[in-house]
This record gives sequence, C-alpha cells and structure tokens, in this order.
Amino acid sequence: MTPGPVEVDPRVLRALSYPILGQFDPEFTVLMNETSELLRHLFRTENRRAYPVDGTSRSGIEAALVSLIEPGDRVLVPIFGRFGHLLYEITERCGATVIAIEREWGGVFSPEELAEAVRRERPDLVAVVHGETSTGRMQPLDGVGDACREVGALLVVDAVATIGGVPVETDAWQLDAVVGGTQKCLSIPSGMAPLTYNDRAERKLLARKRIERGLRTAGGPEGGPEAWERQAAAVIRSNYLDLSQLQDYWSPARLNHHTEMTSMLYALREGVRIALSEGLEARFARHELHGSALAAGLAAMGLELYGDPASKLPVVACVTIPDGIDGERVRAMLLHGFGVEIAGSFGPLKGKIWRIGTMGFSCRRTNVLHTLGALEATLLRCGYRLPPGEAVQAALDVYERSGAGAGV
Ligand SMILES: *Cc1c(COP(=O)(O)O)cnc(C)c1O
Repeated sequence: MTPGPVEVDPRVLRALSYPILGQFDPEFTVLMNETSELLRHLFRTENRRAYPVDGTSRSGIEAALVSLIEPGDRVLVPIFGRFGHLLYEITERCGATVIAIEREWGGVFSPEELAEAVRRERPDLVAVVHGETSTGRMQPLDGVGDACREVGALLVVDAVATIGGVPVETDAWQLDAVVGGTQKCLSIPSGMAPLTYNDRAERKLLARKRIERGLRTAGGPEGGPEAWERQAAAVIRSNYLDLSQLQDYWSPARLNHHTEMTSMLYALREGVRIALSEGLEARFARHELHGSALAAGLAAMGLELYGDPASKLPVVACVTIPDGIDGERVRAMLLHGFGVEIAGSFGPLKGKIWRIGTMGFSCRRTNVLHTLGALEATLLRCGYRLPPGEAVQAALDVYERSGAGAGV
C-alpha cells in the first residue's frame, strides 16, 4: 500500500514470462505498434508519438527534458514537493536558465497562478508535476496550456503517479509532452516510462537534429569556431535518451537504436490493455472510491490528513504521524505483523508523515479494510488513544453510500 511500486496484476506477471522475440521480428513489431495505439488511448491523445522509454519513469522525464531543452533556454519549474525539485535538477543539468516558483509543501498552485507566471516569465518550456507523491497533492493543469501557447512555451508534465488512476487529458489540456509511470496506477513493474508528445514538441526535436546533421557535413557552419560552438550547444546531449532517435526506432522505418526491452514491452502492453478494458472512467472512479474510503477511515481514527484537502491526490493519503508515535516502528509492525507496507516521506516530511497508496491492482476494498484494521491495532499497541472500531466502519459507510455495498 505504498505510492509505488505496487502489486502487479497476475496477467501482467504472466506476460513477463512470454518467450523472447527478436526486436525486428514482425510479431514483435506488431506488438510495438499495438502498444503505441494503446498508449494513445491511455494518454487521451491523437499524437503521432506515443511509446515507452526503456528505464524507470525518471528516464522518461530526463528524455523529454534533455531532448526539448537547449542550453540557455528559459525553463519555468513550479515546485510543491520532492519531484518538482527533481525536475529542477534535471532542467539545470540540461543547461537551462531555471526559474523556480515554490509553494509551501502541502499545497499546489491554481491554474491561474501558473498561467500568470507563464505570461510574466515567458519561458521556452514549463516542466511541472501532475501528481506529487511526496506530499500527496495534485496540481490542476487545465488552463495552463493556453498561456504556454501564447508565449510559445512547451508544457512538459510528469504524470508518473497519475496515469491510469486519475484523468490525464493530454490533448484537452494542451500538454505538449507527458511522461507516465508503470509501477504506480498501471500496476506494471518498474522499468519503462511511457510518454507522448505532439508536433509542437517534435518540431523542436527535429530542428536540433538538423543542426546536428549540419555539423557533421564537411566544413561545418559558416562563421568559424564561434558559430560552430553555438550550434554544437543546440545538439541533444544524450544518445540513449534522444527522443529524435527513439521516435525513428518507433516509426515504420525502425531505425536501430537500442534493443527493445522485450519482456517489459509485453508487460506494458498487457497492463495498459487491462486498464483500457476496465474502462478509464471506471478505473478513475475505482481509485476515487477506495481513496476516499481509506481517507474516511484514517480520519475516523482521529488521525490528521496532511495538506490542503482541496488538492488531495486521490491515489495517495498522507497522514501526519501523531506526537509521541515512532513512525518507523509503526511501519515495521505493519509490515512484519500484518504484511502491509506503507511509506514514509522525504526531505522536510521525513519522519513527519506516512503515505498510503491506493493504486492500480492494490487499489481494492479488501486492501483498504485490512490496512485500516492493521493500522488501528498497531496504533493501539503503541499507546495511541483512538476510538476502537470506528475506522473500518467509516470505510464501510463510504462503500455503502457509494452503492458498492459494504460487502457484508
Ligand atoms: C515515482 C515518481 C517518479 C519516479 O519514478 P521512477 O520510476 O522511480 O523513476 C517521478 N515522478 C513522480 C511524481 C513519481 O511519483
């Protein structure tokens, strides 16, 4: 019950055991094409480009940023948790002039505030987290895309924690590049980063590729070493994470790049297929239901939910660790006594909150009820005073009210 990695659907585990096919085997390239098509549905986009980067989610984020940021570009990074700092760090390494705007942890920005910052700063690119798992917050993004288009900025979104669990509207919200994750709401093992980007983003990739080609031609650019240096700076500074090369590998031309991670591709395809066959709306409703049942149970125990309730990420509940309770001891008792794993947090929140995920295959009623019961028993054992029995009842109330029935 952490915010990832979470339990994997047994059908995905089975897909991982399929025989290995060659990367240019026609059967395998059909699977690649199918996966792209499934990803377009998952990201709710008509984009031509939708494919995974091989590596954990962070590799997808880095691929998008290193491919779309030229040294010297102005990049706006709104920060409201740990993963915002990650975007800042990668962006800085790309040689950008980074403009960070920070919100105290536990809150988010309004879309109007973000749009205003975009109009004021006129960046070349905006990099923002959608679901911030470190603080359990969700940043509303609808309305930011307009401002980005006005000033010609690309909008790049880390939707690692939200894809497949919460609506991510790539086209409707005018997101230029979106990176998802496998091991969170999609319930696929960690190891791939599905992403998508539109023609606006692709134009930037292709311009950088043309410069690279120009530099390779005999003589190089006119204007001597200085012009050479200026142009060389615009070349994408990664080979493995160069989206302009990866998209050629994922195109019908199948230009060789790396060897595709065969087994992970089977898993990704199966996991996304399962998500779509459940139906995205039904899946979002399931995440919402179990997230609220868990939150109701925690509140009924007298625990304080961390952060502004208006921006709660439906798939993560953050709980303030009560005074006098050793958070790590509680986590250890839950794990060893009940087989339930919950998470701590990072940086300023380390030792201050627990984070409980309701994601993907783990997001189900039996898990929520067991977690609440186990946490109640553990807290009582640690001397925390709470009204016994209320937590599970509060969760059952939520299920009953939802029409899902209490299951009893
Ligand atoms: C988990 C997570 C990541 C990093 O994912 P890895 O798969 O560990 O690379 C990035 N961003 C957010 C918001 C996350 O929750």
